Amino acid sequence: MQSPRAVVIGGGIGGLTAAAALHHQGWAVTVLERTAALEPVGAGIALAANALRALDTFGAGDAARALSGWQADGGLRLPGGRWLSRTSNEAAARRFGEPVVVTHRADLVALLASRLPEDAVRTGSPAALADPGGPARPARVTTPAGDLEADLVVAADGIHSATRALLFPGHPAPHYAGFTVWRVVVPRPSEPFPAHETWGRGTTWGTVPLHDGRVYAYAQAVTPAGGRSPDGELEELRRRFGSWHHPVPAILAAADPSAVLRNDVHHITTALPAYHRGRVALLGDAAHPMAPNLGQGGCQAVEDGAVLGLLLAGGADDLPRALPAYTAQRLPRTMEVVRRSARIARLVSLSAPPAVALRTAAFTVVNRLGPRVVLRGHDGIADWHPPVHPYASRTKARTREAL
Ligand SMILES: Cc1cc2nc3c(=O)[nH]c(=O)nc-3n(C[C@H](O)[C@H](O)[C@H](O)COP(=O)(O)OP(=O)(O)OC[C@H]3O[C@@H](n4cnc5c(N)ncnc54)[C@H](O)[C@@H]3O)c2cc1C
Repeated sequence: MQSPRAVVIGGGIGGLTAAAALHHQGWAVTVLERTAALEPVGAGIALAANALRALDTFGAGDAARALSGWQADGGLRLPGGRWLSRTSNEAAARRFGEPVVVTHRADLVALLASRLPEDAVRTGSPAALADPGGPARPARVTTPAGDLEADLVVAADGIHSATRALLFPGHPAPHYAGFTVWRVVVPRPSEPFPAHETWGRGTTWGTVPLHDGRVYAYAQAVTPAGGRSPDGELEELRRRFGSWHHPVPAILAAADPSAVLRNDVHHITTALPAYHRGRVALLGDAAHPMAPNLGQGGCQAVEDGAVLGLLLAGGADDLPRALPAYTAQRLPRTMEVVRRSARIARLVSLSAPPAVALRTAAFTVVNRLGPRVVLRGHDGIADWHPPVHPYASRTKARTREAL
């Protein structure tokens, strides 16, 4: 019997997860990536327990856990170094089932790609949806090497998804969230430090050790969209963060100016009417771009891909019920994460002195209550489990379990 065939547009974290999950279920997959190589941005990514459990559905969870670099405790600080609240990865593990894994994006992408047959990924292959297909008609994707027909197309073409615009014309595009972010990976400074995120006035800096001896740092600042520093982004970071507590100056000193990434953050605030049309499923940033402040954009893309794989375990015959079930399961959940991420982004972006003072006072109180209170912000997100029965909603699955 011939395998059902899926074409995935986009070889980012979401597209590769979907491809690996579908391949695990017996689908023949082709991933079309427009760039010349699978080269993720030079930055880290945090994978919370929900993403690790999603990776478990196709056997990739333990390899991801092995990439863990952050074993020490950390927390939230002020630019002068004072702790606002402490977080313990052990407490996170107790609450959500396992600790957060922070790894380099390249390692995660390599791990996902290694779950696919060698010829499954075509790089240098910009693709466009030509026909979303229908009940009796395959979907069609245009590539430089000719058109491809597929039982299923996975649109994982990222935040500026052309597929989303084609399927949902007139739907509001993602808009500027009000802040820009910088990211860099450097060798670990010699003087030790705990992982931290530090909140200033409309500015944030975070530093997390990676498993390979390097350190991933990210920074954020409220600023008009489209800005670029005339003397380079490293100089901009030095001006904004150079006087902050250790290890920030040490990281700035170690950073290669050409390796500092800067991106304006865009997110969606109006949910799409659905995450599918015809034989096309949208996932990851193509469906629900969100502010990065909960560290969940990639995790939700991984959940999307895993759920799609589970729903389509029965092959192409399952498509008529699998795609509506995919929308039903993923749209409300991911939009809730979008909304919660936007709320944290607003809190982090506060810059008026009275508002910042109030925020500091609130976190000082929270800190007295222990890490449990801070971790509560991830309740309902990091404690996610893959659906017990692929066509059951979480509520129905829970009810059945309880009976
Ligand atoms: C500063 C920052 C920090 C973040 N930190 C975290 C974190 O710690 N944890 C977390 O879970 N998430 C994090 N995120 C979010 C996460 O990076 C994204 O949600 C995730 O990368 C989305 O993956 P994706 O595969 O949907 O999209 P992308 O990674 O954007 O991949 C889309 C791919 O599609 C390709 N493509 C586009 N158009 C075409 C086409 N026409 N044909 C072929 N290929 C095409 C692109 O080249 C790209 O490779 C962060 C985001 C930012 C900005």
